[in-house]
Amino acid sequence: MFKIPMAFQEFNNTGYWGKPTATIDWCEKNYEVNYYVAEMWNTISNLMMIIPPLWGIWDMKKQKFARRFFFCYAFILVVGFGSLAFHMTLLYEMQLFDELPMVWGTYRYIGFAIIYLAWPQPLLQHVCYGILVAISLAQEIKLILEFKCSVCKRMFIVAIALYLFGFFLWNIDNILCKNITILREQIPMFLQPFTQMHAWWHIFAGYGVYIQVLFCIHSTYDYHKKYKLSNLLLPEHMYFSIRWQKPTKSN
Ligand SMILES: [Zn+2]
Ligand SMILES: [Zn+2]
Repeated sequence: MFKIPMAFQEFNNTGYWGKPTATIDWCEKNYEVNYYVAEMWNTISNLMMIIPPLWGIWDMKKQKFARRFFFCYAFILVVGFGSLAFHMTLLYEMQLFDELPMVWGTYRYIGFAIIYLAWPQPLLQHVCYGILVAISLAQEIKLILEFKCSVCKRMFIVAIALYLFGFFLWNIDNILCKNITILREQIPMFLQPFTQMHAWWHIFAGYGVYIQVLFCIHSTYDYHKKYKLSNLLLPEHMYFSIRWQKPTKSN
């Protein structure tokens, strides 16, 4: 068991952006690594919401996917940059961006249930219409059941698992902050950043949401299955891309 020493204090430095005005200050100590970045590891971990969507945008042009998927990627980018700005400054104005992915992840299902009950239409037209928020768990399950696509099913499970695991770490970071902080001070310096659980939340949630965009693209081609295309569209690079496979002669 951990005994919390008397000397343990919630000690925070101040830095370039002044006293934090956000209503939440995360477990990571402020301005510990750099004078210009309030929470270094919580800041750079947002690259997981910046680099993959940039790659996705580049790759979707090569794969000639419909243009509207750009907005799905752009949406992740906005959240990623917003969250980066928030953890860098800890200013209230930026806080919304950090909370948005969580709010969406949790409440969009309820929101969708309401919309679906009130407005039961063929759903695919709405899938990925501009923003990722429109995608929902219920909708995705419906698509999986309808198209019986094993690729979509796998992507769905991987995305949800990553997201939920991230959410688990987010909770660990909040609940066990003191214990983690004490532990961190006892391990070698180079290992310490890896104990920043909120940073891991960014990475896992960012990964999960990114795969949802790929799901979205694939399910669109499932819908057009009459063209027998979607079985040639497969995930690659650990779910960082889906690409058209060269058809074999037997097809
Ligand atoms: Zn965050
Ligand atoms: Zn599919």
